Amino acid sequence: MAQPLYDIFAGMEKLEKVSLSIIIPVFNEAKNLPELFDELMPVLDKLGRSFEVIFIDDGSTDESWRVLQSLQQRRSTVRIIQLRKNFGQTAALAAGFDYARGDVIINLDADLQNDPKDIPLLIDRVEAGYDIVSGWRKSRKDRFFSRRLPSVIANWLISRLTGVRLHDYGCTLKAFRKDVIKNIKLYGELHRFIPAIASHMGVAIAEVKVNHRPRRHGKSKYSFFRFSRVILDMLTVKFLLSYSTRPLQIFGLIGLVSGLLGFIISFWLSYQRLVLNISVANRPLLLLGVLLMVIGFQFITLGLLAEMMVRAYHESAGKTIYFVRQIVDSETKPRSSAEN
Ligand code: UDP
Ligand code: MG
Repeated sequence: MAQPLYDIFAGMEKLEKVSLSIIIPVFNEAKNLPELFDELMPVLDKLGRSFEVIFIDDGSTDESWRVLQSLQQRRSTVRIIQLRKNFGQTAALAAGFDYARGDVIINLDADLQNDPKDIPLLIDRVEAGYDIVSGWRKSRKDRFFSRRLPSVIANWLISRLTGVRLHDYGCTLKAFRKDVIKNIKLYGELHRFIPAIASHMGVAIAEVKVNHRPRRHGKSKYSFFRFSRVILDMLTVKFLLSYSTRPLQIFGLIGLVSGLLGFIISFWLSYQRLVLNISVANRPLLLLGVLLMVIGFQFITLGLLAEMMVRAYHESAGKTIYFVRQIVDSETKPRSSAEN
């Protein structure tokens, strides 16, 4: 089994179940935390259900951990997890998802850009039967050229490529049903693609308009260069979604087309050389024909190797190629959508 990207300080103690888990990744947000706490807690208390708030300190170098400790002292519903170093937002979230015990898991930023008052809206939608509810920052409060424009382009591309039509992939205010999120393994910077990754399990995804506010304390942890990483991640997701269980279908197709083209060219040149006696040594086409055949052969072998890797992956990780929504038999009780 692969090791997780993060390493946890706290032990996996046995704690009782709760109905709601709020996951908040924190990286150098000391100034924002007390304000966030004061805004968040009344909203959660008003819901009238059991909840936990999990802060994941992603290797902060400021006062964040000390502030979190004092918040934890104030409320026992707060759990804090300190990662050994800065592993990145995705890894911090993954840690949160692993440790969450709620049936509904909500992800929120620590920088107060998300409004805790939107949480009941998200829960409403989950109770209406949706597996993932994603926030949509209708009027986003970030810089235009460095943040909003790249995000418009990225959202459009991701929607087209993955077939999951969301307006705002980047919004970190999201709610998930436990059984969906616990089945997703996150790597790299893939957290923004959770709805797309989850779509292969067959999930109902809803979008709700949420409030977005400018950052008041601390700095954004990202720059314009995130854009290129998002595009590459998108290719990964697209590939995994479409071909992860049948890679030969894509590599093999490229290989066949290329190989066939190369074969036709080479056949034509051979015919000219052998039958028509035309010299082919000075023809660039010869090079192309040979190149295409070699590439074709390589793509097909690559596809076959990938097929073997897919099998090894699914078998060693104990992964199935299907996901069950519910099972009804004499021993199990069906999960109704209202029960979340
Ligand atoms: N964050 C994190 N680890 C990182 C970078 C960011 O846990 O390496 C957290 C950060 O503290 C915040 C959230 O992820 O709670 C979103 O980060 P940020 O506000 O900088 O992103 P932006 O809103 O600018 O996209
Ligand atoms: Mg932010």
